[in-house]
Amino acid sequence: MNPLRSVRTRLTLWYAASLATLLLVFSLSVYFYLRGGLQHALDEDLQQRYTIVENGLNSSLDQLSEVEDHGAVNLFLVTEGENVVHQTRSWLLEGLDASMTPASGPRWSWSAPQGQMFHLLQGEVISAERKFHLVVAQERTLVEAGLARLRWALFSGFPIALAVAVSGGGWLARRALAPVGDMAARARAITAERLSERLPVRDPHDEFGQLAVVFNATFERLQQSFEQLRRFTADASHELRTPLTVLRSVGEAGLQKNRDAAGYREVIGSMLEETERLTRLVESLLTLSRYESGRAPLKFEAADIGVLVCDVAECLRVLAEEKEQTLRVDCEPSVFATADRILLRQALMNLVDNAIKYTPAKGQIRVTVRHAQHQVCIEVIDTGPGIPAEHHARIFERFYRVDAGRARDRGGVGLGLAIARWIIEQHQGVVDVVSVAGQGAKFRIALPSRSTGVPERD
Ligand code: ADP
Repeated sequence: MNPLRSVRTRLTLWYAASLATLLLVFSLSVYFYLRGGLQHALDEDLQQRYTIVENGLNSSLDQLSEVEDHGAVNLFLVTEGENVVHQTRSWLLEGLDASMTPASGPRWSWSAPQGQMFHLLQGEVISAERKFHLVVAQERTLVEAGLARLRWALFSGFPIALAVAVSGGGWLARRALAPVGDMAARARAITAERLSERLPVRDPHDEFGQLAVVFNATFERLQQSFEQLRRFTADASHELRTPLTVLRSVGEAGLQKNRDAAGYREVIGSMLEETERLTRLVESLLTLSRYESGRAPLKFEAADIGVLVCDVAECLRVLAEEKEQTLRVDCEPSVFATADRILLRQALMNLVDNAIKYTPAKGQIRVTVRHAQHQVCIEVIDTGPGIPAEHHARIFERFYRVDAGRARDRGGVGLGLAIARWIIEQHQGVVDVVSVAGQGAKFRIALPSRSTGVPERD
């Protein structure tokens, strides 16, 4: 990998660059602040010395020796025209005369050839109608040396601090990003065959830990979907194999001996029955896959559930009549829900069809629709064999049947309830079953209701 592409290098570089900027700004601010403060203090001190000598000059010329010997000022020169009125010993010693140039302003600095540095202030003093020229000096070698040391300390310390920061930053970045490396290595090992593996979570409360938790949850869902898919494929193949085996054995048996026309008709009839079951199964599988892939967009609109239920009952009444069953519909008027009519009709068809299918001849089937607590409740009640409690949780799964043999005999493919549940869930509703073995079954659907048939969201 290009090192500049690595987050670690980039983090370290960013860290170093920001620290360098910060250090530079800090060093320059400290240096200039200190230098400004010292300069100001020196200026004030020089001004004070100037005032002391000026006061001495104003009193009498003799006072100047007094100022030199006992006062704090030992570097000054007083002239009157070309004449030197007073010159301190130190002035002479330091050779400060050389600092005087015609271009000098009121304040200036001068460096002696030996290296000492001076700050000077000059001005005119008028005393007893005489005009004097006063120059006061102050040594600033120590201050300059201190400032130079500070400059050196700051600028030689800068690269050292930067080097420490870069290596520290690099170490920190490596340490902080180590979990990402672990996660990437483990994620690489997770394949469709090893979906049960999970990313390591060092600390579930930090950012990487949370990321790993989110990924793990995704892997969990993926694993479930894969397993569901695997189970579904296995179940579907199994379901398809049974009618195909029956078809083949019936065909083979039919060919084994010579039969009359009625015999062949019977064989063909059995084969057609199996073909019909196969068609139903394939159709159901297609319906499920079309719904779940979202290829059939849902069209929600206001639906009068009573009207829908009556329509379903009328469609299936002929099947109930064949078995001499009573099919009764009890609907409260104007019970509305937001629904995709075609889909909801399919779910109701599946439930009512099951009730007719599993209820013995002369049994009773009742479908009710009512409003209860902002919900539309639809119940499909039959007087059939019922469903033992241990199967209630599983009968909505694909291909699950309470009594596989019996259900198949009745033409069931084991997908009706799975389709019904998927549809109801798309309507934000729930479907469940209340039943005791031998005492009939009651399938209940609860959907969110809407007050009128006027469109709300279409
Ligand atoms: P099938 O096509 O086999 O009917 P379903 O998904 O519609 O598949 O139903 C699943 C199983 O639930 C059925 O095989 C049957 O055992 C049971 N079942 C469904 N409805 C009823 C009912 N009204 N009475 C008794 N058992 C039922």
